[in-house]
Amino acid sequence: MFPALAYRTLRSAHPRCLWKFAWNFGLKGLLSVERFKRRVKRGEYFPPFLYLSILNSCNLRCQGCWVDVEAPRTAIDLPTLNRTIADAKAHGNSFFGILGGEPFMYPEILDLLAAHPDCYFQIFTNGQLITEKTARRLRALGNATPLISIEGTETVSDERRGKPEVFQRTLRGLEHCVKQGLLTGVATSVCQSNIDDLLTESWLRDLIARGVHYVWYHTYRPVGPVMNPQLALRPDQLVRVRKFVVEMRAKVPIAIIDAYYDHQGQALCPMVTGISHHVSPRGDIEPCPIIQFATESIRDPRGLYATFRDSKFLSDFRTLSGRHTRGCVVLERPDLVLDLVRQHGARDTTLRGTAVAELQAMKPRFSQWLPGEEVPETHWMYSLSKRFWFSDFGAYRNVEHQAEAHARDLQRQLPPPPASTPRNASQPTVVT
Ligand code: SF4
Repeated sequence: MFPALAYRTLRSAHPRCLWKFAWNFGLKGLLSVERFKRRVKRGEYFPPFLYLSILNSCNLRCQGCWVDVEAPRTAIDLPTLNRTIADAKAHGNSFFGILGGEPFMYPEILDLLAAHPDCYFQIFTNGQLITEKTARRLRALGNATPLISIEGTETVSDERRGKPEVFQRTLRGLEHCVKQGLLTGVATSVCQSNIDDLLTESWLRDLIARGVHYVWYHTYRPVGPVMNPQLALRPDQLVRVRKFVVEMRAKVPIAIIDAYYDHQGQALCPMVTGISHHVSPRGDIEPCPIIQFATESIRDPRGLYATFRDSKFLSDFRTLSGRHTRGCVVLERPDLVLDLVRQHGARDTTLRGTAVAELQAMKPRFSQWLPGEEVPETHWMYSLSKRFWFSDFGAYRNVEHQAEAHARDLQRQLPPPPASTPRNASQPTVVT
């Protein structure tokens, strides 16, 4: 798989985009994780990967969106963004995730990228506002990859995203990116309405034919003001997504990202490991995008590093979640999240002011932690890179006592395996 992927990427991406990816993300990104590992060893936490939601506004209205897209426009001003990135760079960071709302509704987004030629940006976008001219500017800068979200084929896309012609408009933006030789990705939050269409080899081959270089399969998280829990995946479907990703990584020449498993297929949460945290459109420092509570802000006079390092809220979130689950504490234990928020007197960072009520309305459900159903990486490239630069960094010292109970619950929820094959032949079933 790797030679075919390398060959098509070298042939289709613009040399400047390849160089910036290799240097700013590849080498410098790797060095920033090494610095993070040394910090963790001395008990200091500052994430090498910061995800910045630069504004709340969006031109779409997606099911399950937790962003205040209906509220008046709120954005982090450019000088504050530039200072935040410069502060993070001073501690070895070079990679930043840019989210919204819709980042291309932020008028100075290209100026932000141009101000940091030594960094690499992944822009989470619906692609609809990426014109040919914008794509040409992105190529000239070379230091950003558009990760374009596609949530279904024609009809499902319109339904999932609450507007007409979503699929075609998004594909137009994608074509502009590919035509300019940008390293281009497609993200999908896999749910009941798109799993059979988008979790297929034929969809991946369709994306390859369109010139897409990588994909990211998230799994739908029923959170926010309109949760649509009926869209969330069952445990057996979560296992299916994991198996599909590992299988396709070794078979199809397109890179496949995930942020929830180590090289052995053990679940993890990037918030708990401390490798990433999130900044809201109001500059609040949040454990992750769907935990919309904070006690600190990027405007804290102590400076970015000290604010993250000394945050008792973040450290308690990492420790408590890591003691109870290797999965998503929001999905599995919304009660624990609420306890911590109250314990720290954390403020609701949403403009709608309903984050507490939303947590109270959530029903615990399974997430990526599926003990006994682990699927290890099979392709060397993913196994190696995860082993050294995307493990749990020792964050889960005392969760095993929960594993057996969690596995028993899981076995009760998984459909019985066909008579002939014992469940997960490669792994012994955790049945006490
Ligand atoms: S708490 Fe859940 S949504 Fe947040 S980073 Fe962890 S797994 Fe992801």
